Amino acid sequence: MLENELRIARQAVTLAIEITRRVQADMTGADTITKADRSPVTVADFASQAVICSVLNRNFPLIPIVAEESASALRRPENRFARDRVAFYLKSSSGSSAWDGDDLFDSIDLGSRSPADCFWTLDPIDGTKGFLRKEQYAIALALVNRGRVEAGVLGCPNLDHPGSASPGGCLISAVRGQGAWMETANGESRDTCRVSLEQDPVRMRFVESYVSSHSHADMQLAVARGLGINGSPVRMDSQVKYAVIASGKAEIYLRIPHPDTPDYKEKIWDHAAGSLIVTEAGGRVTDIEGRELDFSKGKTLSRNRGILAATPQVHSRVIRTIAQLEERARS
Ligand code: AMP
Ligand code: MG
Repeated sequence: MLENELRIARQAVTLAIEITRRVQADMTGADTITKADRSPVTVADFASQAVICSVLNRNFPLIPIVAEESASALRRPENRFARDRVAFYLKSSSGSSAWDGDDLFDSIDLGSRSPADCFWTLDPIDGTKGFLRKEQYAIALALVNRGRVEAGVLGCPNLDHPGSASPGGCLISAVRGQGAWMETANGESRDTCRVSLEQDPVRMRFVESYVSSHSHADMQLAVARGLGINGSPVRMDSQVKYAVIASGKAEIYLRIPHPDTPDYKEKIWDHAAGSLIVTEAGGRVTDIEGRELDFSKGKTLSRNRGILAATPQVHSRVIRTIAQLEERARS
């Protein structure tokens, strides 16, 4: 089931990995635009969204795409240079001149649809700040049906497959009920993903956001200490954190809302692919109160608070520890 959808999704994400790696290799300051919410967007975000949306639309014209970016900033005359750079990368990777004029904007805006019964959700570059630092970032694509993630592909251009001799990043895919797999971006080798079996809290590892305003690092450290974990968190951008849990390299990914933004609602494209990958690798993903993630409420996880992805051995203990610490903080 979903064989064709997964095949095309992997193809599209593989193309985006190649393009974003090339942009990252010769990035200049002029390749970044600041959005209205003051967050950065780059030539690579636009190119990734354009290529993935056009591949999906060509193969599945009836499935809407809900993606993070829109072409509005790129349409402005002052951003003409960035527009030309996006077209340059798309043309040189596809060998086609179909990216001139409005075609480029239209391809990006194929991702401006609203969530429906069945839809794709895409973050063309999750962790743009990590991309700019030349650290971790992900290309995240998922198929959602009736509020459940059915398939997910995570492209991780700066995370190498452990068995691979050549760097080039990896691709992790999952289909509900069928498991999760990690492969090299060049398709050379492929392995099943399984979460860690570590039982001893002393040896457990935890991951959290690199950007400190995205989660409550002090509380997360208190939770880890409460569980008996001695080590320091590993901080990294994007859904690569889910990839690290799915491939058994850490046991806990915790995202407690930052005290300055307690009502922040997580975006569906920031969690759809990653959460399925961890679940299919044998892990457990809920919000920090133990509720299932609800992808049926539009573009945000409005029914959820924060995120916890963990191995089954430790998941319920983390939920209990958070509840105790939050109770203590209130009283
Ligand atoms: P990460 O690198 O895991 O922190 O994830 C990056 C994502 O965090 C971005 O794509 C944003 O959508 C999201 N984000 C932005 N502001 C916040 C916030 N205040 N709390 C949690 N996540 C946020
Ligand atoms: Mg994102």
